[in-house]
Amino acid sequence: MTTPRAGAAVAVRRAGARLVGCALAAALLTGCAQSVDPIERMGRKAAQKVRHHPRPGAVAAQTAGAAGAPAPNAHRRWGLAAPLAPAPEPPARGVLPPRAPGSVPPVIDRVPTEDKVVFLTFDDGAEKDPRFVDMVRELRLPISMFLADSAARSGYDHFGQLRRLGAGVQNHTLTHPFLPGLGYVDQHAEICGQQDRLKGRFGTTPRLFRPPYGNYDGNTLRAAGACGIDAIVLWRASMQINDLRYAEGARLRPGDIVLAHFRGPSELKGTTLTEMTSRMLRRIQDQGFTVARLEDYL
Ligand SMILES: [Zn+2]
Repeated sequence: MTTPRAGAAVAVRRAGARLVGCALAAALLTGCAQSVDPIERMGRKAAQKVRHHPRPGAVAAQTAGAAGAPAPNAHRRWGLAAPLAPAPEPPARGVLPPRAPGSVPPVIDRVPTEDKVVFLTFDDGAEKDPRFVDMVRELRLPISMFLADSAARSGYDHFGQLRRLGAGVQNHTLTHPFLPGLGYVDQHAEICGQQDRLKGRFGTTPRLFRPPYGNYDGNTLRAAGACGIDAIVLWRASMQINDLRYAEGARLRPGDIVLAHFRGPSELKGTTLTEMTSRMLRRIQDQGFTVARLEDYL
């Protein structure tokens, strides 16, 4: 089922709307995105003026993934009581607003949709668990990967396997620094440097950027725009070892972007990446949601 998207607006934060404000240590585990309802901020009328535009690479994104439905019992193998519901057909056009020349990319933490979908994003790239590749393949799991070169570089082949299964490759800086306060030149080097690295490894230039710890300032937005980034992607819910933590409220909402990390047992108190992901999927299913591919909506 496709939900009409007339009047839908992307969850947008503009430059300077919010500066940093979360403790680094807390952000490491929990993330620190605050609730941002773009329609509240922009006003409903303004939001309705946001025009849709064709989504670059949309066709490629939809055909790049592992084709077909999951094997009948794949869900049981990965600890799910029921199969993941198929994602609805994504919108024909991306929901990001067209960007005026010289303007900075919007900041989003959810996608405006009434579909009961959320979007899984995995950060950094420290854990390269081959079982996770099996899980993504067998469940046809749509994910987006925000890779920091310093964490991922020893295993780009691993992330290439995930990419061939349809996972999106996106930018999370070269060395994972705390960006606010860094000069423009340094931030530009962190973001454009990783754009170049990922383009060199995977052949396509990322459209999305997530600042480490979810923290950014005006230089981040300007540098990201100069590096060809279409949107800064934060999150509305973050997966801990056992449970989701919400930026607002106590449950998922349609279009929420969910943060997880490529972490293994040493960082998850013995829990593996696939066990953590299985728990996350159960929490999502328990709330009546399924997962969709972020790039298909943007
Ligand atoms: Zn990170």
